[in-house]
Amino acid sequence: MEGNFDYMEKQILITGGAGFLGSHLCERLLSKGNEIVCVDNFFTGFKRNIIHLLNNPMFEVLRHDICFPLYVEVDEIFNLACPASPIHYQWDPVQTTKTSVHGAINMLGLAKRLKIKIFQASTSEIYGDPIIHPQTEDYWGNVNPIGFRACYDEGKRCAETLFFDYRRQHNLEIKVARIFNTYGPRMHINDGRVVSNFIVQALKGDEITIFGNGSQTRAFCYVDDLIEAIVKFMNTAKDFTGPINLGNPEEYSILGLAEVVLELTNSKSKLVFKVLPNDDPKQRQPDISLAKERLNWEPKTQLREGLEKTIDYFDELLRMK
Ligand code: NAD
Ligand code: UDP
Repeated sequence: MEGNFDYMEKQILITGGAGFLGSHLCERLLSKGNEIVCVDNFFTGFKRNIIHLLNNPMFEVLRHDICFPLYVEVDEIFNLACPASPIHYQWDPVQTTKTSVHGAINMLGLAKRLKIKIFQASTSEIYGDPIIHPQTEDYWGNVNPIGFRACYDEGKRCAETLFFDYRRQHNLEIKVARIFNTYGPRMHINDGRVVSNFIVQALKGDEITIFGNGSQTRAFCYVDDLIEAIVKFMNTAKDFTGPINLGNPEEYSILGLAEVVLELTNSKSKLVFKVLPNDDPKQRQPDISLAKERLNWEPKTQLREGLEKTIDYFDELLRMK
């Protein structure tokens, strides 16, 4: 075909587009003038997350499970489909592995047929209960292959293997990001992840459930910062495949997080200590030197600022109920 089509915006497929991160990514890429095909089976995603986008003619939703092949014509793929919270991914562990592995094969097959770039939402969980701290991308991890978290951890590890084999075998353009704990508006209210749990418990005046003694650590990234990094990463040079750690390196103990949430919500909720779940990592903190260097990116949102926005979201949601 003749003519210069460089000015044309892209048609972008986002799997898991009705989920927490996916809905923010849909919004961000739509705002840049792209056309979005949002694919979701609504296992943990909601129409509510994308309702404000549904009237936009550049936005299309397909109810589809990525464990089955998908035939669409697009210019780029972001593969985010997969439950991310431990209670959700352990609810049907076989389906979790299928989504990670069969889903990746289907999306990679689509990318191969179309000769297009594909992003994979990998996770810090591939490091398991890490022995190296903070975690750098060259660390191979410490994962229990037969534990309760393995359906997710090993599923995501296998997906990374597939991405790199498609790259080696078929010269596919891949972008693999290892995402660390991210929070913000549109997290599932019954998600079970620590930030949403603590905020909802504090707002309702329920007990704050600390698993173990609360000394385990995590580093929490606000969603807007993460989405910015994902978009920047997708636009890097072809030979830059990742894996790349994306997250906020500021590390907090779970007890410390509970105290900040109580303070910001002005809540009188009591702390209760529950049994620590199996294979719960003791500490986690990303080394983001690579992201700083290659993406010229680092998170801007302080924990308190991000928590305030997230508290406002859940406060409004609870009032509607
Ligand atoms: P989420 O549960 O809110 O979103 C996942 C979305 O995928 C949901 O809309 C769900 O309905 C959809 N989905 C699940 N299985 C599917 C299937 N088989 N076919 C089609 N759609 C399916 O979780 P999230 O936090 O938005 O996570 C998005 C991605 O980012 C996941 O792949 C997750 O592993 C990864 N990730 C997230 C975090 C985080 O802290 N949020 C950290 C590391 C990695
Ligand atoms: N956690 C907790 N109380 C809760 C939910 C989670 O103490 O109500 C702890 C959990 O045991 C883990 C940390 O918070 O140590 C982060 O849990 P989350 O499920 O958010 O993510 P992940 O373990 O996958 O990092």
